[in-house]
Amino acid sequence: MSMNKSRQLVIERAAENVRDECNVTDYGFQNIFEAAEKVGYRVIRYPIGAESFLGFALIKDTERIIFSNSSQILSREVFSVAHEMGHQRLHLSEQGKTMIRDDDFNDRDEDEIEANYFAACLLMPTDKILKFIRLELNDKNIKIWNGLDIARIQTTFNVSYDMTLVRLKALGILDNTSLDNLKLEKIEKTAAALLNAIKGNSDLCKSSEAKKIPAEYLEWVISNYYDKLISRKSLETALGFVDLKADDFADPSEELNEDKSFDDLLRGMD
Ligand SMILES: [Zn+2]
Repeated sequence: MSMNKSRQLVIERAAENVRDECNVTDYGFQNIFEAAEKVGYRVIRYPIGAESFLGFALIKDTERIIFSNSSQILSREVFSVAHEMGHQRLHLSEQGKTMIRDDDFNDRDEDEIEANYFAACLLMPTDKILKFIRLELNDKNIKIWNGLDIARIQTTFNVSYDMTLVRLKALGILDNTSLDNLKLEKIEKTAAALLNAIKGNSDLCKSSEAKKIPAEYLEWVISNYYDKLISRKSLETALGFVDLKADDFADPSEELNEDKSFDDLLRGMD
């Protein structure tokens, strides 16, 4: 990790502030999408395909927008939104960078490492993990942990099996040997089966394909079309997201013609 200690603490505090603003008293977020809206971000979710990009953070006029690709499995989409919240809090500003798009989260760029760290601190704060291990797993010896223990942590914090392992390793809770065993166990049983076994949230292992587009976004697209700032093709694409047709909206060039003939008519009356 190339972040220095003071930067790390800045990021931990930023993540803690978001949890406070959302009044999270549980271990994990029940709904990260609602939480992001609660702290002022406009969240757009759309299934743009598993092979497409993961998400972006954007400042558009006075709006701060987070887009997430809901073709990802849900636990990964949760991470994406947390990661984009990190970009919003740490890297974007009206005066500086206003857009960051993520094709993957393995980029070693400084901003990407920081956004990943923010997401880890937001979704799985150290104190909450230690509390969970102590009170819910009865301080069970790490050496005898199995996949079900990881699945319990995963379902409580609403994150992926892999992220749980990465976070526990980064915090020094898991050593290399236990990490390898638990990885192996996941390959053998799959996280979904583990979650079913504990009646956990197996939806975390599927993509939601959610389509959530704010009304303001559509108004913005339509007004831009009327102002001729975007093409009809772009309008069709944007409306297609919500199963609307461009034909439902009058063509501005036709409106202009009407105005012109109206002018002619007025002139003719002189
Ligand atoms: Zn990023």
